Amino acid sequence: MSGQSARQEAVAAITKYEPSGPPLNFSEQSMADLFGTNVFNDKVMKERLPKETYKTLQKTIREGAKLDSSVADVVASAMKDWAIDMGATHYTHVFYPLTGSTAEKHDSFLAPDGQGGVVNEFSGAQLIQGEPDASSFPSGGIRQTFEARGYTAWDVTSPAYIYENPNGTTLCIPTAFVSWTGEALDKKTPVLRSMQALDKQARRVLELFGHRDIAMVSSTAGPEQEYFLVDRNFYFARPDLLNAGRTLFGAAPPKGQEFDDHYFGAIPERVLAFMLEVERELFKLGVPVKTRHNEVAPGQYEIAPVFETCNVATDHQQLVMITLRRVAEKYGMACLMHEKPFAGVNGSGKHVNFSLSNATQGNLLDPGDTPSDNAQFLVFCAAFIRGIDRHAEMLRGTVATAGNDHRLGANEAPPAIISVFLGDVLAKVFEQIAAGGARTAKKAGTLTVGADVLPPLPMDAGDRNRTSPVAFTGNRFEFRAVGSNQSIAGPLVALNTIMAESLDYMATELEKATKGDPKKLNGAIQKLIRQVMTEHGRIIFNGDGYSQDWHEEAARRGLPNLRNTVDALPAIASKSSVALFGKYKVLSKRELKSREEIYLEQYVNSIMVEARLTVEMSRTIIFPSSVRHQGELAATCANLKAVGYEFDTDTLDRVTELVKGLQDSTNALASLLEAGNGKTLAAEAKHARDKIVPAMAQVRKCADSLEGHVSDDLWRLPTYQEMLFIK
Ligand code: ADP
Ligand code: MG
Repeated sequence: MSGQSARQEAVAAITKYEPSGPPLNFSEQSMADLFGTNVFNDKVMKERLPKETYKTLQKTIREGAKLDSSVADVVASAMKDWAIDMGATHYTHVFYPLTGSTAEKHDSFLAPDGQGGVVNEFSGAQLIQGEPDASSFPSGGIRQTFEARGYTAWDVTSPAYIYENPNGTTLCIPTAFVSWTGEALDKKTPVLRSMQALDKQARRVLELFGHRDIAMVSSTAGPEQEYFLVDRNFYFARPDLLNAGRTLFGAAPPKGQEFDDHYFGAIPERVLAFMLEVERELFKLGVPVKTRHNEVAPGQYEIAPVFETCNVATDHQQLVMITLRRVAEKYGMACLMHEKPFAGVNGSGKHVNFSLSNATQGNLLDPGDTPSDNAQFLVFCAAFIRGIDRHAEMLRGTVATAGNDHRLGANEAPPAIISVFLGDVLAKVFEQIAAGGARTAKKAGTLTVGADVLPPLPMDAGDRNRTSPVAFTGNRFEFRAVGSNQSIAGPLVALNTIMAESLDYMATELEKATKGDPKKLNGAIQKLIRQVMTEHGRIIFNGDGYSQDWHEEAARRGLPNLRNTVDALPAIASKSSVALFGKYKVLSKRELKSREEIYLEQYVNSIMVEARLTVEMSRTIIFPSSVRHQGELAATCANLKAVGYEFDTDTLDRVTELVKGLQDSTNALASLLEAGNGKTLAAEAKHARDKIVPAMAQVRKCADSLEGHVSDDLWRLPTYQEMLFIK
């Protein structure tokens, strides 16, 4: 060792960075040619499946028809041959446990043939169902050990794909993961269930508008993923980044994001090279990534695909996260998807764009051009508004994590108060409808549903109202409270089910009012929208969500403000949530309770890991550097005194005070950890929030002040300045 600190070595290594492989050559193989090459997609199925099998399978994929099990063997065999042609040796049922991660267990295609050799084997049964020994995934009490096994079931609607590794490839089959009692142990199962519920209710509304040819209605989702990149040399020199995904220490850099010079700026070369490879890999997997740009904070970026059906979008989103992490390594960087990796610097979210559509009627949140299209749009839009107001607490609960607590409810976008931004034009439309009378008594400034055409609604540029957690952006809603590190499944299950319930309500009311007479429809809609707006209009807010005024106003309107995970999580299994998810058979009470428990446990675990790291780093990294510095100061003072100089001890006094503060606050945190933290999980969570988090903040305060005093050559942790600006 050169005697340099890991930090200095990291800086030195970065200046010598060389790309590890030859550059990609897109003129040799174009991106368009690459798209979906590793996917068992429609084209491959058409080529490789007998016509009848292909048709049956398509029916299941497109219309959600029940899969004919006799078809499975034929599909499995074709899939295996294709995979082996693509170099695969193994297959895996990919599933999505409640940890939010992606899980897989690999099996070889090879099986002994009983004569000393082997054959490639993959049956319909193996395609349809797997049995991972996944007993260590959390089940929140659903699975006792005697029934620990659970099984994975092929999700026909999400395409299988080949995952590449330099030493071979694997056939990946997206699956749902359920217990033997049929209860959902994963994130995918409720997505599929909620899609069915949504389809059923949306069709009823469409039928009221006289549509007869109605294809399956699905929600669509387009998630915008924000992330940070830091050099891996820094990453490994920071135990907090490595173990907690965020910095637990670090003074604000002299230069932050105040110049706004990073946002949409030129993308640094190494980062762009990384992005090109990420996109290439995702293209092969059939993920339609579309946009890339720098984000607000230095070192922060965004990637967004073109929207897809919510189930596929959810699976693809997991692949986006995996690919970002993997490719970053190759380029000597670490991809941070924590919601707040750097205090005082913009955090990362995942805006989830959401709409409903089908193949016959198109995007149902598109206002359209005719009075009749407008009326239909208004019904869907009003249903959405109604649903968000009714279930605002539950929706807030789906984005409650320890990481997201640093964004929501802290001083950052968006606030923890759920509200809906409609934009001025659309808000006025709803106001006018709410104020307007019947068709015959039309007053100036009122709008009659089905007779008047809506004024053109401006497409939101996306950034105009960043402060709103739910914003209408021209032909979809954007849910911005989702954390960057989260699976989008939970929020989508909530949105789908909320929408199903609201559409059910709208359809029922309109059916009652029209009694099958289409001439009565517009009048009935007018009345219904007026009623919905009167009851639920309070959720609409077009102003500045950060302002103190809004917090007060929201309280007056009776809108919930659940500031942190501990307050927000119970809402996912509250009485109204149990009723909602139960009615549409999306999640049972037990399934909801298990989720609440698992997510609360994850919260506690995250905080505890951070607290232990805080103690460790404080004692073994920051304290030693600080006392060395203190020692040098003290020695200088003593030397000066010995030779008779006048000197003052101001700096030494300040450093000594901070060192003492660091030591005391660290000891206080350590004793809180040793003391244990309550008997129940709920008590533990409260203890973590009310005692541990503030105690950690105290340690950090002393440490960050010391960073401003201790000699640079003694400071061992890479600084914010270095991590954010050295690329
Ligand atoms: P902005 O930054 O303005 O929000 P982006 O282009 O970054 O815009 O992201 C918009 C996202 O919204 C994309 O993923 C896009 O595919 C998605 N989107 C567009 N239309 C729909 C829709 N009908 N349903 C769901 N998502 C949509
Ligand atoms: Mg956006």
